[in-house]
Amino acid sequence: MSGGFPQGVREQVALACAVLGLEDHGDLVWGHASLRDPDGRGVWMKASTWGFEEITEQRVVLVGWDGQVLEGDGRRHAEYPIHTEIMRARPDVNSVVHTHAPHSVAFAATGQPLRPISHEATFFVPPEIARFTETGDLILTEELGRSVADSLGDRNAMLLVHHGIVTAGPDIPTAVLAAILLERACEKQLLAMSAAELATWSSDEEALAKREHCYPPPLIRHAWDYLVRRLRDRGGS
Ligand SMILES: [Zn+2]
Repeated sequence: MSGGFPQGVREQVALACAVLGLEDHGDLVWGHASLRDPDGRGVWMKASTWGFEEITEQRVVLVGWDGQVLEGDGRRHAEYPIHTEIMRARPDVNSVVHTHAPHSVAFAATGQPLRPISHEATFFVPPEIARFTETGDLILTEELGRSVADSLGDRNAMLLVHHGIVTAGPDIPTAVLAAILLERACEKQLLAMSAAELATWSSDEEALAKREHCYPPPLIRHAWDYLVRRLRDRGGS
């Protein structure tokens, strides 16, 4: 292992879940992270009935494209189509995260545009953050999964209004960091909006420059390595 990034698919998914748990993305036993199967059989994802911080390599299952559990003993999450359909639509995506991150859910309900008032939102904006509004209910069918993938388009993140967030990336560090940055962006904007109407935010030009300066792949990896070190310092997986 180098730089805190393991090679095994089960270990990578377990680590993603542990980091998301430490970052307060857990909603009791709901929310999940996944990694595309290197052999193309489907997606490796967190098993259901467990919280993020309880996920070990043994609690990661391989879910086929049709929802069958192909490897592993756990149950699959009912919302597996979020993962399978985004990865089916996006060959560039190898990892998907879905959580019910509280500030993101609260922010989505304000109907306000996400503004780059600090660094985090520049990872997504411009253009305006994508929103899925077809339903606030669970994504239980392949058809709804395809709608989620359509709404996400080529973006790295989306608010599922009345529900949660979805992020997508070429690897687990990028998808997990996107989830963390989106939740922090929403938290900061809610904080500002609770004090007054927003008076200022970065122009599109400044936001795009900041995206390049703050979040190029090497810096995403540095942030991921820090999150993994912090987890291990606390005795996590
Ligand atoms: Zn959900």
